[in-house]
Amino acid sequence: MSEEKDTPVTAPAAPSDFIRDIVAGHVAEKRYAGIVTRFPPEPNGYLHIGHAKSICLNFGIARENGGQCHLRMDDTNPTKEDVEYVESIMEDVHWLIDGWADHCLGFKPRGKLPTSQVVNGSEDFIQEAVNPLKSPGADLEPFFASDYFDQIYAYAVALIKKGKAYVCDLSPEDTDKYRGSPDKPGVESPFRNRSIEESLALFERMRAGEFPNGARVLRAKIDMSAPNVWLRDPVLYRIRHSDHHQTGNKWCIYPMYDFAHCLSDYIEGITHSICTLEFEVHRPLYDWILTELGLPRALPHQYEFARLSLGYTVMSKRKLLQLVQEKLVSGWDDPRMPTISGLRRRGVPASALRQFAANIGVTKFNSLTDVAVLEHAIREDLNRKSLRRFAVLRPLKLVLTNIPAGTSVPCEAVNNPEDPAAGTRTLDLTHEVYIDQEDFMEVPPPKYFRLRPGGEVRLKYACIIKCDSVVKDASGNVTELHCTADLETRASGSNTTKKVKGTIQWVSADKAVEAEVRLYDRLFNVAEPDDGDYKRHLNPNSLEIVRAKLEPSLAGVGKEERFQFERLGYFALDPKDSTPEAPVFNRTITLKDTWAKAPGK
Ligand code: ATP
Ligand code: MG
Repeated sequence: MSEEKDTPVTAPAAPSDFIRDIVAGHVAEKRYAGIVTRFPPEPNGYLHIGHAKSICLNFGIARENGGQCHLRMDDTNPTKEDVEYVESIMEDVHWLIDGWADHCLGFKPRGKLPTSQVVNGSEDFIQEAVNPLKSPGADLEPFFASDYFDQIYAYAVALIKKGKAYVCDLSPEDTDKYRGSPDKPGVESPFRNRSIEESLALFERMRAGEFPNGARVLRAKIDMSAPNVWLRDPVLYRIRHSDHHQTGNKWCIYPMYDFAHCLSDYIEGITHSICTLEFEVHRPLYDWILTELGLPRALPHQYEFARLSLGYTVMSKRKLLQLVQEKLVSGWDDPRMPTISGLRRRGVPASALRQFAANIGVTKFNSLTDVAVLEHAIREDLNRKSLRRFAVLRPLKLVLTNIPAGTSVPCEAVNNPEDPAAGTRTLDLTHEVYIDQEDFMEVPPPKYFRLRPGGEVRLKYACIIKCDSVVKDASGNVTELHCTADLETRASGSNTTKKVKGTIQWVSADKAVEAEVRLYDRLFNVAEPDDGDYKRHLNPNSLEIVRAKLEPSLAGVGKEERFQFERLGYFALDPKDSTPEAPVFNRTITLKDTWAKAPGK
């Protein structure tokens, strides 16, 4: 599925952080037979770069400890979820962990389900160990929380039988009202003390579809005056007459996140259940459910870390969905989106995202990460692997009057100064070439070292040229420059001492490749757009499309190849819209941080 191949596999050197320290302690004391983590997205949107942090952490810990990491669809809310999202999540995780796949498992063989046994009078479900698989393929699928609906239902019945859960008929509004607030104790539901038999019978009837949405819920019986409101008889199951993308119409009751999550972790034999800080207050409930069920195997434990927030973007799936639905972007994979699919389409290598995750580390304090940190990781990565090429984004024709039409002067150009093995290529200097409009000014300001009437500049890898005359159209626009090439100053083999201050790239007009080039800028024009009305901070100039001229070697390149267009940035083909006849390139990133210089932008 992945088109990009990292050679060699560039897993960052094993990072260290407080969660890895905890895991290392457990490994040292041999607390578990093996380390098993999970990455549990809800399939209600595409994955974003915040998820990438979590994927790198969970798969990374599994990989570093010879363990496993399960990709689990946390699909307990049928109304917001969709198979389109399941598929995109599979693709994004494959792509991001490519190269780590033989170290840890993210996927299980299709259809393989946990087996069950009866222990201590209640059922216990065991996810059999699955051997790590080399590369995730068509016969593999992720884990699904919905695969455990039968088991989770059985555990709910077990809790009722232990007198630890009851069916409650309060309306959703009254349930909220009775719960109280952190400084005000809750009030017990009048249904709290109904008999076990009555709750069992009602729960069965809820399952059978006898009641409408919202009529009844199953609640844990914990403590209505607990300081932690999550322990005030939380709802475990609710009625939802909705089809589910995996289980169809089999169920009309669905477990709540808190009930399904800890049990899914237990069923799969997860040892370390790592989530973001807002779940810290849920942890006592996580532990309560597993403990009250009296489960026979080692229990999973929850650990929390700070979520990633990144400058100049929004990250909540709800907001990203709004941008897509309101067509403010072209889709979830719009290259301006902070989604994994958007970043991939823009040309960001998976290895750069993994390095970014390693660079930002894992802490317990929420903070805003400067987008420059991401951009730095992308530039470092692309600088090493990109071939250098010449392109002209806004072409201006230049006629070299002393090079006859139909002839050419071969010029040797270096493919990648960072990698001598990348070798050289030949560029042909011909009668007509293109330079960028920005590299010529009729009336230049001081310190402008590029071309001007009567001035000189070096065409990189070729020679110095002089602008003899300027051709204009009827309205006075410059259409062509007539120049002479000083072939004595050819880059190689010349012994001239002539020097000029400016060096620019160029493209021979003879064999130039025409391409659409998409230039991206930040999607939002303030660092923290996430205030009340984030849409008003959208950057109206986040996409510019130009018709560019590229050097001939860029004809027919592969979608996985990465290029530095000299002086312009890093570019790659758009994997969706580009065709061999009509190539489309995306600018992944500029060479330098253009925002650092322009604080007022
Ligand atoms: P959103 O708020 O964007 O909808 P979510 O937390 O509901 O995100 P999930 O699909 O439930 O999204 O997330 C799957 C996993 O990814 C969870 O374990 C969650 O903690 C983690 N995760 C989500 N967002 C971030 C983030 N910004 N930084 C780090 N981890 C994240
Ligand atoms: Mg969530």
